[in-house]
Amino acid sequence: MPDAAAHLPFYYGSIARSEAEEHLKLAGMSDGLFLLRQCLRSLGGYVLSMVYNLQFYHYAIERQMNGTYAIAGGKAHCGPEELCEFYSKDADGLCCTLRKPCNRPSGVEPQPGVFDSMRDNMVREYVRQTWKLEGDALEQAIISQAPQVEKLIATTAHERMPWYHGSIARDEAERRLYSGAQPDGKFLLRERKENGTYALSLVYGKTVYHYRVDQDKSGKYSIPEGTKFDTLWQLVEYLKLKPDGLIFYLRETCPNPNMPASAAPVPPTHPSVTAHPRRHLGPLNADGYTPEPSRTCPGKSRLLPMDTSVYESPYSDPEELKDKKLFLKRDHLMIDEVELGAGNFGCVKKGVYKMRKKQIDVAIKVLKSNNEKTVKDEMMKEAQIMHQLDNPYIVRMIGVCEAESLMLVMEMASGGPLNKFLSSRKDEITMSNIVELMHQVSMGMKYLEEKNFVHRDLAARNVLLVNQHYAKISDFGLSKALGADDSYYKARTAGKWPLKWYAPECILYHKFSSKSDVWSYGVTMWEAFSYGQKPYKKMKGPEVISFIEQGKRMDCPTDCPAEMYTLMQQCWTYKWEEHTVENIIRSYYYSIATKTENGPETEDKSKATLP
Ligand code: ADP
Ligand code: MG
Repeated sequence: MPDAAAHLPFYYGSIARSEAEEHLKLAGMSDGLFLLRQCLRSLGGYVLSMVYNLQFYHYAIERQMNGTYAIAGGKAHCGPEELCEFYSKDADGLCCTLRKPCNRPSGVEPQPGVFDSMRDNMVREYVRQTWKLEGDALEQAIISQAPQVEKLIATTAHERMPWYHGSIARDEAERRLYSGAQPDGKFLLRERKENGTYALSLVYGKTVYHYRVDQDKSGKYSIPEGTKFDTLWQLVEYLKLKPDGLIFYLRETCPNPNMPASAAPVPPTHPSVTAHPRRHLGPLNADGYTPEPSRTCPGKSRLLPMDTSVYESPYSDPEELKDKKLFLKRDHLMIDEVELGAGNFGCVKKGVYKMRKKQIDVAIKVLKSNNEKTVKDEMMKEAQIMHQLDNPYIVRMIGVCEAESLMLVMEMASGGPLNKFLSSRKDEITMSNIVELMHQVSMGMKYLEEKNFVHRDLAARNVLLVNQHYAKISDFGLSKALGADDSYYKARTAGKWPLKWYAPECILYHKFSSKSDVWSYGVTMWEAFSYGQKPYKKMKGPEVISFIEQGKRMDCPTDCPAEMYTLMQQCWTYKWEEHTVENIIRSYYYSIATKTENGPETEDKSKATLP
């Protein structure tokens, strides 16, 4: 995540309090002289350091759940810059107003945040190596799964660090620390024999000190009474900067003699992570869990989108790409009798498509046998649109098959439509699960916006699930490609339209744009957060139009987080673009994913399995 303060001339990045005070001293100690630095304790937070009456004041700026920033007890601001602007006009509880920025001396760049760069690099390397992804597929995996991947890494990352000595006894640790030079701050981390806890062993004044590392109920690590961290390596990195209760800070790694030099990572720039084989977890429940989800290791058994066969296109394999054509051979397609769904056009059947190297499960949209030309043309239009799309959060088309009838062959999303899925599993699906899925939908919509397509039929019924944690946008029957210079599509005549999902502009002027897709996204959000209820209750289309024209909007669904209701309302202003929506829901999703993933709240609900 980019640093929101990186561009500010008075931002110093990750520097210690004493260093901040040095800079303020050098700049003259006038009242209201201030600078901004990164907070080492809370990720994403800052500290405002300032001077008043020749004294230093340090105020922690916390990043809140909804992505805003605030000094404890103060007003929330959308960024650190806005916050500083505010306090330059109004002291509002600070020692005085911010009067003069203490800018970085020329040539001094903000100190990179130890954790941020380490986390980002680790996540990237881990995803690249574990799932063998590159390019867009890699980027999308990182954006959509960063919190889960961080959890995976958190449990194992320290094992790759040169200061980690594994399970060695206390006297062996002392032997290793006493061998060779014994500078103050020479340290190692070891696993203790007792119930898998850890200990830090540290040299100071030629003596070795041992500190127990505690792990609390939510899995966070700390030195007794010390700051808590999600991971052991974060704890170590922090203690390199601050003693935080230790007799001395950690200064010099005592390298593990058993760790091959090649395995040693070089954080923060390129930490190496073990290459895992793709995590093939065998047959899965439709809810994305292996048959035995483990309560003690949340996240470990969770199936990520990248673990499924539909994350990347089947044609991402160059061998398969050789055979890619719009029209598929009938004898490569096996059609099952099982019907997945139905519509005006005909029905959707389950099937298997034989490719060069593999067989894939497919969903086949079969046109009714009496196909008239216009209906056929419509399906071909839908196929032409889908043919141009390739994104993990969009149902991909494999191709078209013209045989007993015209058929559109797609990737299989066996979890079915989102509204049905949620209404049948109210008690099992948590709010954070819904946020996760809606974030994925926003990623798919952002991709459509970038490719200059309008969907025109985004609704919970057209979001299909691969599993409980993986959603894809489908049904491109009404979708249009916009002209290169157009920002909207204008329909000549009104058709059979899903009015409850449409912005007034669509209905009044027949104009369809990314902004009207955002409106539909808001309604889809409402459906999702109300567990698949029908929007606008018993109202008919025309009633909804006048309801909206009066400035009224649907109420907040029961238990829906306030941040998510605010986002829906913003979607219903016709001002927002997909990428803004994606950004907002992403930060909210990250903030709750980090906070609750380990907690009992999410696990209780999401543990449930499917029949
Ligand atoms: P319509 O244009 O009639 O709304 P859809 O494309 O939405 O058609 O498909 C209708 C139904 O068929 C869906 O609600 C879903 O149950 C099923 N279906 C469609 N595509 C898939 C797919 N790729 N995987 C699984 N089921 C699908
Ligand atoms: Mg549909």
